[in-house]
Amino acid sequence: MSLTLTVDGERWRAHLRATAEAYPGLVPVAKGNGYGLGLGRLARKTQWLAEHPPEGGAGPDAIAVGTYHELPEVASRFDGDLLVLTPWRPFSPAPDATSDRADGRALARRVIHTVSRLEDLAALRAADPDARFVLERLTSMQRHGLGAAELREAAETARARRLAGVALHLPLADGTRVAEVQRLMVDVVAAGLEETTVWVSHLGADELATLRSAHPRTSFRPRVGTALWLGDRGALRVTATVLDVHRVERGDRFGYRGRRAPRAGHLVIVSGGTAHGIGLTAPTGELSLRSRAASVARGGLDAAGLARSPYLVAGRQAMFAEPPHMQASMLLLPDSVEPPAVGDELEVRVRFTATDVDVVRIA
Ligand SMILES: *Cc1c(COP(=O)(O)O)cnc(C)c1O
Repeated sequence: MSLTLTVDGERWRAHLRATAEAYPGLVPVAKGNGYGLGLGRLARKTQWLAEHPPEGGAGPDAIAVGTYHELPEVASRFDGDLLVLTPWRPFSPAPDATSDRADGRALARRVIHTVSRLEDLAALRAADPDARFVLERLTSMQRHGLGAAELREAAETARARRLAGVALHLPLADGTRVAEVQRLMVDVVAAGLEETTVWVSHLGADELATLRSAHPRTSFRPRVGTALWLGDRGALRVTATVLDVHRVERGDRFGYRGRRAPRAGHLVIVSGGTAHGIGLTAPTGELSLRSRAASVARGGLDAAGLARSPYLVAGRQAMFAEPPHMQASMLLLPDSVEPPAVGDELEVRVRFTATDVDVVRIA
């Protein structure tokens, strides 16, 4: 009855360990919907990696969360440091270091804040003189961060205090990232921070090796989410359940708006809808102009104005009969396709970071 994510546990754990081995200093990222797997599960797996370090190496001693709101779910399942990726602001719901509750104070001590503006550095330290933090340097992403001169100024006041290093958030675009980090390292060195930790995103193991040999006194720590949790797609499978199948003739009415079936075939009602993040536009399709033209020539359903769904029937993406409902979706199969039976499981091609499944099953 549900949208289910089935994880091949052994294969997935093997991939997690291989990734930890390939990325010394790995900082697993657990944010948002937990990459489809859930924040709690990612925190537990990070703890598991810490307890099962790669041979001759160390397991993760820190995890990164996206927001302060995500701290409680992660903090209770992983013992190490908690890096918050969203920069601290005076209005951030950060844990209260002066709480009269011991567990509140203990949580505050485990947090590493991200500081991306000079005024926030002063404000954070006024709010919590013992706060640990990284200084974020603005990259070509232009999301958050200090400029070169601001980094120098922040380093002056921050040095020898609770500074946990410099953070860089890099774009995904390939090829230029090492060069960009090299340029930014000039600012890091100029700020006297070469001997700190530089926390980076979106660098491959070989790119990190290049940087490490160029800056042997710097400790580079890669923050990795997607390549860690979702790096072996073959270990993960999302399926939906067929809830109903109805025969329709051309012109029969169906759906919320009483639309008429453009062809004879079968309406297939499957689990999964907008509440799960099932979108009208399928994330992966072979919707090239050529395949669309071929479909028009065949009188295919997309030629009738139907949108491709992420549900696979007989190895192909079925068409939505109408936009997904809250917890179910209606597909329309042409007569040429044998309909599945009630209770059958259909594979669904989803974007994990935008999908909330009902059940995660570790097989
Ligand atoms: C999300 C995020 C990451 C991890 O990104 P992935 O592509 O999932 O590896 C790293 N750093 C920051 C600042 C992020 O927001």
